[in-house]
Amino acid sequence: MTENTGGKPPEPLVGKKPIESYEYRLDNVVKYPGYKVVIAKEGETASPFDIKPLIKDNFKSTDIRFKSYNRRRTTVFCNSAKIANELAKDTKLREAGFNAYIPLYYAATAHIVWNVDPRKSEEWILNNITAKSPTGANIKILKVFRMKRKILKDGTPEWIDANRVKVYIEGQDDVPNVLLDDGYIMCDTSRFVRKFQQCNNCFKFNHTAKTCKKGKICKSCGCDFHTDSPCQSQKCAGCGGTHPTASPNCPEKLRQRNINEAMSKNMLSWDEANEVFPKKKRTASTYASVASNNPFAILQDLEDDFPALPTHEPPPPPPPSVSTQNKRKPLLRRRGNSRGIQTRPSEERKES
Ligand SMILES: [Zn+2]
Ligand SMILES: [Zn+2]
Ligand SMILES: [Zn+2]
Repeated sequence: MTENTGGKPPEPLVGKKPIESYEYRLDNVVKYPGYKVVIAKEGETASPFDIKPLIKDNFKSTDIRFKSYNRRRTTVFCNSAKIANELAKDTKLREAGFNAYIPLYYAATAHIVWNVDPRKSEEWILNNITAKSPTGANIKILKVFRMKRKILKDGTPEWIDANRVKVYIEGQDDVPNVLLDDGYIMCDTSRFVRKFQQCNNCFKFNHTAKTCKKGKICKSCGCDFHTDSPCQSQKCAGCGGTHPTASPNCPEKLRQRNINEAMSKNMLSWDEANEVFPKKKRTASTYASVASNNPFAILQDLEDDFPALPTHEPPPPPPPSVSTQNKRKPLLRRRGNSRGIQTRPSEERKES
C-alpha cells in the first residue's frame, strides 16, 4: 500500500524513436542552471562505470561528473555548454550503443502563450513566433504545442484546440517578449507548470486510471475496493495519511506540486526535483499538522535552500542523500515502462 506512493513519472522514451537532443547556446544571451547531458542505452543499464572508460580520454573529471539516479540512465554534469554539446555528440558513446542527449527540459523552459488563434497550426506558429530578451537579443523557440481543452459534445467529452499554446523557449531567463506574425502581435505569456496526475482507480500519483496497473482502491479507507462492508477507518488512498483522499492539503499532493514547480522553474529532471523534495516519513503527515501549515511554505523555502547546480565550477560530488534514497526505491521498479512525461507530446497537449 505504501510503496509507490507518489510514484515517479515514466522515464523518457529511449530507443523506440530517435531521441531529440538539443544544444546549449554558447553565447551568454540566455542562462542555464547547469549544463547536463543524459546517457542511456536501449533496454539496458547505463552505468557510469561502463561509460567512463569510453570517454575518459576526451573529457577530464574536472570537465564532467556522473550522477546515477537509477540504473537505466546516467546524468552528466558538465563544466560548460561547449563540453555538454560535445558530449552529446560523442562518437565513441554512439558506437558503443549509448544515447547521449540534451533533453528539451534541460535546454528550454516551457511557457504558455495566450490568445493564439486555434486556426493557426503548430508549424505556422513555430515559423512565425519570435522571442526577444530584455536586451533585444533573439531567443530561439525550440518547440510549440497547441494546448487542448475538453468540451462535451452530446454528452461525450472531446478534446479540441484551445486558444493557447505551450512553447519551449531556450534557457532559463524570465519570460521574454514573445511576438507573433512578423512581430506585429504582442503575446501574453506565463510560465508553464505541469499539473500532477492522480489516478482515479488506485489514487496514486503520476499515472491515470487508463494506464493503472493496480487493483481498485476504496477512496475512503485506502483498502482494496469494497461495497459489502463499511470502511474500518478513514485513510488517504494517495499517501496513507489520516485525512480524506480528496484533501487539497494531502502532503503528497503538495510534494508533487513542489516537484513540478521545481522542474519548471529550475529546469530539473523529475529525479533531481524528487531529491529536492524527498518523500517524508508517514508519521509527519497528519491532517492537522498539514492543514495548519501554509501549503506553499515548502515552495518559499526552495529559493533559499535550493542546492546550487554546477555552472562554471566543476560539479559537486553527489549529495549523501542519494544513497539513502536508492535504498528506499527499488532501482528497476519502472522496468518496461519507458515513456517520458516531460517530452511526451500527447500529455503536454492536454490541459486539465
Ligand atoms: Zn492507479
Ligand atoms: Zn473503504
Ligand atoms: Zn494524502
